Amino acid sequence: MNTSSERRQKLNKDIIPNLEFRPFIGGSFINLPSDNVMPVIDPYTGNVIITVPHSGEREANLAVEAARHAFDKGPWPNLHPRERANYMVKLANIIDKNIETIALVETLDTGRPFKGALGWEIPNASEVFRYYAGWADKITGCTLPDVAGVNIETYQEPVGVCAAIMPWNFPFAALAWKIAPALAAGCTVVVKASERAPLTTLLLATYVSEANFPAGVINIIAGTGDTAGNALVKNRDVDKISFTGSTSTAQQIIQNSLGHLPGWSLELGGKSANVILNDANLQDAAQNAIGAMFTMSGQDCGAGSRLLLERNIAKEFLSILIPLIKSRRLGDPMDDATEQGPLIDHNQFERVSEYVDEARKSGANILIGGSGTKDGPNFYHPTLITDIPQNARIVREEIFGPVATVHLFDGLDEAISIANDSCYSLGAAIWTTSAEKAQEFRRKIRTGTVWLNCYGWYDTVSPWGGRGLSGQGKELGKEGLSEFLTTKAVFRK
Ligand code: NAD
Repeated sequence: MNTSSERRQKLNKDIIPNLEFRPFIGGSFINLPSDNVMPVIDPYTGNVIITVPHSGEREANLAVEAARHAFDKGPWPNLHPRERANYMVKLANIIDKNIETIALVETLDTGRPFKGALGWEIPNASEVFRYYAGWADKITGCTLPDVAGVNIETYQEPVGVCAAIMPWNFPFAALAWKIAPALAAGCTVVVKASERAPLTTLLLATYVSEANFPAGVINIIAGTGDTAGNALVKNRDVDKISFTGSTSTAQQIIQNSLGHLPGWSLELGGKSANVILNDANLQDAAQNAIGAMFTMSGQDCGAGSRLLLERNIAKEFLSILIPLIKSRRLGDPMDDATEQGPLIDHNQFERVSEYVDEARKSGANILIGGSGTKDGPNFYHPTLITDIPQNARIVREEIFGPVATVHLFDGLDEAISIANDSCYSLGAAIWTTSAEKAQEFRRKIRTGTVWLNCYGWYDTVSPWGGRGLSGQGKELGKEGLSEFLTTKAVFRK
């Protein structure tokens, strides 16, 4: 089953019709009225793949009730941590067993190339469940110095019921990044899938059921932000909101949950700078800049969407980069040869076009790209834009498409100043053979992650997250676990 048409045929005939996409609440799949559905669109063709039940306020509140009950009355937070870990490892094994199915569905739903789904995203999810299973029995408090004969201790306790509100890009990996640390900490969760790509999130419920998790520990629904999402945010039984999505949605979520002040972890947008100094290995830097700008068609929070070039190598660098961009293979994401698939939907296509058209009208120079392609309704050419002022919208705002702006600088100080001139602070990279310059950049750049002579690396053990408009809190690593724990101080006489 190797060609894209064979993969699509298998999905249409054997996979999609046989999978379960109903909401999963309190350990059971529930039925909604048959007209209460939302369409799921294939980003490649623009056609409806299937309709799935559309959970609203009622289902969101039922899911929170189930999670609350499982936390307050169920066994989960009181299970021995190694028992919690056993469930998590079982889930990871089931994911591995179904890896090809999940990767195919993820590709169909998000338009991300199948090779990346099978090679990184789905295996990453099971790896993350195993990693946090390993943490479950290593959560410890501490003993502090006595005072006047009173012992002082701290306990690390689960924060409680967590709402995981998901984005549509990398939904299956993002799911594991939230659920796995929450479960290891002893929390129960309600997951709301993105309405733009809900399928693999809903599919996880089948595997949760197969792993026999106690009822209510993991609840999964799909619905829109203004109905199901908003209901979760306003529900006072939610102790923690773990959100990945856009900065503007995060601002609404904060506003709407101010009444009960739950904890927030916010993984938001980015506008990361990729800086090339004149002593860099230009071939290597150009090759990596392609991935930085155009992975997932640029719909990646960590995308290197601002390319900063030292003035005296800019021409040479672009003469290496532009042919690489021209040779990039766009097409059916099911095809193994495809490097870049479509944008998630036509709204996203129009949003990207609007940014580029506005820059063009204001006199910017489109070095390459700048329009849609004939590969399908939602394809956009990889695009590079230069001669654009720092205050232009296309420089300041996250575009979330295969579009990068090019900026020239003279010397490291100016590069750092341009790189830091953004409200977003997620990632940044520098390419240089000077260890001193790399270290100076590392010290002075205000971002959550810095890549030195590489781009886009993530790892399960390493915390990921931004500052400023890029969010707060971390995912992955031991920092990701601590987002779901709260410290209790105990004085004992
Ligand atoms: P989005 O903000 O449109 O939606 C994210 C989720 O929020 C969806 O599930 C949506 O239904 C829900 N939502 C919308 N309005 C809501 C409301 N009022 N109350 C509660 N929930 C609501 O984002 P998106 O388009 O799905 O994702 C793309 C964005 O996510 C980009 O900005 C990207 O940079 C960011 N992102 C960040 C990271 C990271 O790790 N920092 C990772 C992936 C994506």
